[in-house]
Amino acid sequence: MPLASSALVSQIVGGIRPHFALPHPGPPVHNVNCLARPVSTLGFEAVTKLNSVAVFCASSNDADPAYIDLAQRVGQRFAHERLTLIYGGGHSGLMGAVAQATMEAGGEVIGVIPGGLFTNGIPEDEVTTLEVVADMHQRKARMYELSDGFIGLPGGLGTFEEVFEAATWTQLGLHAGGRAKTVVLLDEDGFWDGAHALLDKATSGGVLTPKNRPIIQGASTVDDALRALRTHRSNDLPQFVTGQLNEGA
Ligand code: AMP
Repeated sequence: MPLASSALVSQIVGGIRPHFALPHPGPPVHNVNCLARPVSTLGFEAVTKLNSVAVFCASSNDADPAYIDLAQRVGQRFAHERLTLIYGGGHSGLMGAVAQATMEAGGEVIGVIPGGLFTNGIPEDEVTTLEVVADMHQRKARMYELSDGFIGLPGGLGTFEEVFEAATWTQLGLHAGGRAKTVVLLDEDGFWDGAHALLDKATSGGVLTPKNRPIIQGASTVDDALRALRTHRSNDLPQFVTGQLNEGA
C-alpha cells in the first residue's frame, strides 16, 4: 500500500502549544480550602459536547481476533456518530483496525505520530490527516489537545502508559483549559479488571484520592463507553480538583 502523501502529512514538529508551561489558566490556588470555591474560579470548565475521542490500544499484530473485532466496531461507531478518531497513527494491531474501520465507514481519523519512529508504512486510506510531531511526548500532548475524552482498548505497555497519563493530566488540571477529560477502559472479556482492581486498591489504601478515582471508568460495550465519556466529564467535574496539587503551593 502507498505511504501517506506529503500533502496529507501535516508537519507540526515543534509546533505544540506549551501545555506544561501554563497548566492553570485561572488564578493560582494556594491551599486546599480553596476547593470549596466554585469550580469556575479555579479555571476549570465543563465540556458540553463530545466531538473527538482518542483511542489508545495495542500495536501488536498478535492480538486476539476478538480484540481486533472490538476495535473495528469502535471505529464503525465513531463514523456513524460523527466522532473524530484521534489515534497514534500506527498501521498495526488494534491501532490499524480502529483507524481502517473508521475510514471505511466514512468517518474522520487524525493520526499523530512521531517523525522517524513509526512513520514507515502508513497507508493513505487509513487516515484523514496525519500529523508528524517531534517525539513521543509531543505526540501525547497533541493527542490530548485534540480529544474530548479517551478510550483504552486492550493493549500493552504503550497503552497502559497512555491511559494512565491522560487520566493524570485530568487529575492535575493539565488538559487545555483545565478540562476534566474522562478515560474509559473498554473491554468485553474483563481485560481491564486488573487495572480497576489496582485503582480500587490504591483508593482503599489512601494513595489515590476517592475524588479522582472516577476519572477512569470501565465499560463493557461501546454504548456504555460513549455514555460514560458524555456523562462523567461534566457531572463529576468538581471531584477532579486535587488537593495535593495545591498543598505545596
Ligand atoms: P502497545 O500497547 O505497547 O502496543 O503500545 C501501543 C501504543 O504505543 C499506541 O497507542 C501508540 O501510541 C504507541 N505505539 C506502539 N507501537 C506503535 C507503532 N508501531 N506505531 C505507532 N504507534 C505505536
